[in-house]
Amino acid sequence: MKTSSTTSSTTAKDPICGMTVDTATAINVERDGQTYYFCGEGCRTKFKALPAGKPPEPKSGGCCG
Ligand SMILES: [Zn+2]
Repeated sequence: MKTSSTTSSTTAKDPICGMTVDTATAINVERDGQTYYFCGEGCRTKFKALPAGKPPEPKSGGCCG
């Protein structure tokens, strides 16, 4: 474990593009009692358009730009 300057910030993975986002600042959606975090509005919109159930596997390469 590394000694970092900040331990208070938490990160999560954007389920759409796989990008690591800061939960303190990222936009989020709650679904099935779980909170998902997104790098941007585009990914959140894509997520909300998905049918209920498990989110897709993040694809490398990214979707956002
Ligand atoms: Zn994203």
